Amino acid sequence: MIDAFPGRLRVRYLTAHKNIDLLREQVARFKPRGIVVADNTIASNIRSVTDGSVEILVGMEGLIEVARRPDVDIVVNALVGFAGLQPTLAAIEAGKDIALANKETLVVAGGLVTQAARRHGVSLRPIDSEHSAILQCLRGEDHTTVHRIVLTASGGPFLNLPQEQFETVTVAQALNHPTWNMGNKITIDSATMMNKGLEVIEAHWLFDLSPEKIDVVIHPQSIVHSMVEFEDGSIKAQLGIPDMRLPIQYALLYPDRPASSVRKMDFAASRELTFRPPEVGKFRCIQLAYKALNLAGTAPAVLNASNEAAVQLFLEGRIPFTAIPALIEEALLTHSPVSTPTLEDIVRVDGETRTRVAQQIASMHLS
Ligand code: MG
Repeated sequence: MIDAFPGRLRVRYLTAHKNIDLLREQVARFKPRGIVVADNTIASNIRSVTDGSVEILVGMEGLIEVARRPDVDIVVNALVGFAGLQPTLAAIEAGKDIALANKETLVVAGGLVTQAARRHGVSLRPIDSEHSAILQCLRGEDHTTVHRIVLTASGGPFLNLPQEQFETVTVAQALNHPTWNMGNKITIDSATMMNKGLEVIEAHWLFDLSPEKIDVVIHPQSIVHSMVEFEDGSIKAQLGIPDMRLPIQYALLYPDRPASSVRKMDFAASRELTFRPPEVGKFRCIQLAYKALNLAGTAPAVLNASNEAAVQLFLEGRIPFTAIPALIEEALLTHSPVSTPTLEDIVRVDGETRTRVAQQIASMHLS
């Protein structure tokens, strides 16, 4: 991406949590002014192999610091989970446009983030392929004529697995996604379909649409990346080969469409596009996300925190796959939402929810 548009894109800062081999390779290739790593040990390791030409920053403070540097125009936030929130807010307050791959930022603090973006006149451009599709479909349209948007979902690896078998799903099965190759957290979210639930909340904030105007449809081929239906009954869809370079390029170079190396669609090859409603009884996380969105306030932050905690427990082999929605539901039921939360409220609720999920599991294992 960066190599393809040398006149337009230059990397100023790179951040890597602990993926040091890739970071080292990218430092050599893109020659950033600075990098951010997870902790001081990694910082001294990497210092010993760079020639001192690159500034090395550490942790959350480092992320926030580089997000607001004056030599940065656009911040690409692809952090995983709740960790993405504070750097996003810092970047917005410093007037940077945001290319957002971290959907959890909008799920937990959509109100705060979108208000801050409006106040500072910055644009939030989704990298999520569904939201990129909606953004493209809405260009040139009057937003008051939107009847609904339809987010497409591949359905994940368990689309056709009978519900009785969900109890015995293994981590390896859940990590085996049919169309997209992604990190562990989002791959599990895709298997439970919580990913689509989080995307419903993300769409609510990005496009200022009420929950009734956001639908989900199963489309296993992942060719239609999402659709907008207008009041007159017309539907606009954005299609393409599933390749994340497309939405990333659109977010970085918006609204331009320079040629890219993404493979073009071949209609001579037999191609079928199918659609059907999701089985909400089987994939309970979708309805839980709507429930959190309707409860509003801090409820989506509880949804997100309990989901992050439950996914981690599943990946560690400590709970069955079916315990993920059960833990989230329990967390939502026991929470009294704060209606217009501050950042402090959200951080507190996030921490409390994680603690409660951990305690619940500990007590289950003791009994
Ligand atoms: Mg997506």
